[in-house]
Amino acid sequence: MKVIIIGGGPSGMMAAISASTQGHKVILLEKMNMLGKKLLITGKGRCNITSSLGMEEFIKNTPGNGKFLYSSYKNFTNQDIIQFLKEQGLEVKEERGNRIFPVTDKSQDVLNCFIKKLKELKVEIMYNTQVTKILTKKEQDIVKVVGVQTNNGTIQADKIILATGGKSYPLTGSNGDGYKLAKQLGHIVKEIKPSLVPLESYQKDECKSMQGLSLKNVAIKLIDIETRKKYL
Ligand SMILES: Cc1cc2nc3c(=O)[nH]c(=O)nc-3n(C[C@H](O)[C@H](O)[C@H](O)COP(=O)(O)OP(=O)(O)OC[C@H]3O[C@@H](n4cnc5c(N)ncnc54)[C@H](O)[C@@H]3O)c2cc1C
Repeated sequence: MKVIIIGGGPSGMMAAISASTQGHKVILLEKMNMLGKKLLITGKGRCNITSSLGMEEFIKNTPGNGKFLYSSYKNFTNQDIIQFLKEQGLEVKEERGNRIFPVTDKSQDVLNCFIKKLKELKVEIMYNTQVTKILTKKEQDIVKVVGVQTNNGTIQADKIILATGGKSYPLTGSNGDGYKLAKQLGHIVKEIKPSLVPLESYQKDECKSMQGLSLKNVAIKLIDIETRKKYL
């Protein structure tokens, strides 16, 4: 089967590796001129790969409906990603708070593991290729994917995996395209909100001025300025 993966972040790269390992012909489309641009800035350039905690803890700490992730976590665990990186030659270490990092402290080394495996599997990668539309056709009552439209023309495919990331840090390529593509297909897309730092203020630009601020071992007090009610 010919599989197109849209987006070359960690999800897209892993999907490409998985589909290719299962014998499919894979084309990975990335709109930037490189893979994993966001991965490089994770964990302040060190990449906090995963946690050593059990899956139950992952579910508990997932905002919203964490149980939704049960099947994914069951199919690929934190130990699996550690093993995958080990097989590509990267050792990891555990730090305070059960956090797992590469021993080299370099996110580039994590990215290199993915790139190495993609090369080994001969996955075709097309850079500077932005998907603008997922093409479908209707056969009786079934809508089938037939390919994608990109800034470089149309590419045919039997299956498509949408791995365009979210909307944070658009400079890295993830600017919310995926939501538009999903909407075009008829999916309902709920209003998106920041999850990591859902901080809002009545005062204009107050949160903006705190962007990038990283604090260790701090406490926070949350007071509603209208009702004076304390939440924390
Ligand atoms: C500052 C910061 C620090 C972080 N630190 C950590 C950390 O230490 N540990 C951790 O686990 N997570 C961390 N995260 C979160 C992590 O970066 C994301 O969860 C992860 O990158 C998501 O991977 P992804 O493949 O789904 O999406 P992304 O990494 O966003 O990749 C999506 C890719 O799709 C491409 N794309 C988008 N639209 C199109 C299109 N239309 N056509 C073609 N390609 C397209 C983009 O260019 C991009 O390369 C951090 C995030 C930020 C912003």
